[in-house]
Amino acid sequence: MTTAEPPRDCPLCPRLAEFRGDNRKARPDYFNAPVPTFGLPSARLLIVGLAPGMHGANRTGRPFTGDFAGDLLYATLLKHGLAKGTYDERADDGLELVDCAITNAVRCVPPQNKPLPAEITTCRQFLMAQIAGMAHLHAILALGKIAHDSVCRALYATHPFGHGKSYRIGKIHLIASYHCSRYNTNTGVLTAAMFDDVVKRAKLAAMPQL
Ligand code: URA
Repeated sequence: MTTAEPPRDCPLCPRLAEFRGDNRKARPDYFNAPVPTFGLPSARLLIVGLAPGMHGANRTGRPFTGDFAGDLLYATLLKHGLAKGTYDERADDGLELVDCAITNAVRCVPPQNKPLPAEITTCRQFLMAQIAGMAHLHAILALGKIAHDSVCRALYATHPFGHGKSYRIGKIHLIASYHCSRYNTNTGVLTAAMFDDVVKRAKLAAMPQL
C-alpha cells in the first residue's frame, strides 16, 4: 500500500520531477521536494489545498507556508482555535495545528501553479493514504475545485463543486470552498468573511460537540 508521503525524489510525474531537478539547481536553498502533510494523523479535520506555491510551500517545505494563500488560511485557523502559536511564514515558526491537518492534492510544485490532470490522478494515491491513515477523521475542507474533485475521487464519490456546499460521504463530511488564493481574494470571489464562515462550518462538522 502507498504511504501518505511520497519520497523526496518521487519519480511518478516525470514533468514535476524534471521541474524539481531544475529548481534544485536554480534555488538550492529551497525545499524543492514533495511537501509533506502538516499536522497529526489523529486530527478530525483535514484541509486539502491544490499544490505548493513555487516561492511559498516549495521554498519552506510546509503547506501554504510563505504562500500568499497561507496568510488568510493560517489567520483563520488561529482565529478558530484550529492552530496555536504564531504564523511567521516559516516552517520553524513553532505554529501548531489543533485537531486539524493540511495537505495538498498535488505534493510537488507544478509549473505555473497548474498541475496536469494526469499528475492530479497520480498523486491521489498519497491523498488516499493520508485519508486512510486518519482514524478520527470527521470532516474534509477542500480548497478549490481541483482539491474538491480529487477528494471526491479519493472517496469514490462524485459531487459538484460549489463554494459552501457540503456533502456526506460515508462518515466524512466534505465541505467545499473557493481556494483562498491571491487571485480569488483580490477579485472578491472569496472574502475573508466567506472564508471565515466556511472554516467555522468545517470545524463544526469535524468537532460537533465544541
Ligand atoms: N500553497 C499550498 O501549499 N497549497 C495551495 O493550494 C496553495 C498554496
